[in-house]
Amino acid sequence: MAARILVTEDEEALCALLEYNLTREGFEVTLCRNGEETLDALKDEKPDLLLLDWMLPHVSGIEICRQVRARAEMRDIPIIMLTARGEEEDRIRGLDTGADDYLTKPFSMTELLARVRAVLRRSRPTLSGDIATFGDIILDRETRRVRRADREIHVGPTEFRLLDCLLQRPGRVYSREQ
Ligand code: CA
Repeated sequence: MAARILVTEDEEALCALLEYNLTREGFEVTLCRNGEETLDALKDEKPDLLLLDWMLPHVSGIEICRQVRARAEMRDIPIIMLTARGEEEDRIRGLDTGADDYLTKPFSMTELLARVRAVLRRSRPTLSGDIATFGDIILDRETRRVRRADREIHVGPTEFRLLDCLLQRPGRVYSREQ
């Protein structure tokens, strides 16, 4: 399953850029323009990661972060804060409020995608632990076995590594050399 990312950003141009790049990377993206929309969206569906702008109209990113961390059912959603405020004090405040990572604007999309992947690897052990899953496929790194729809599939060592690699980045396209 592609990781679902909820993006809260009120700058239209940045919103479009984030949606384009995250979708191209194979993520499922939901966009919210403000804090109220975000809190509503969170009631309907729990994302795998929240990308949150700090400076938002009405409810700030920091306030959303605080509310997410205060609710048992949402507490474990990883959060990356985006902000124009680069001072160390703000950075510490962001992390103290419960953000997992912090990016200062302007940032490069390459860096943002790397941070997103890193946070997801930490938060979703199915992507980095002993078990990887995709749809009805379960790959067990410890026993080096693959099951699909509860039936074991026999794969060779190279096929196993290839499948493992593909499962870690669903939706990503690789060249033959890679
Ligand atoms: Ca903003």
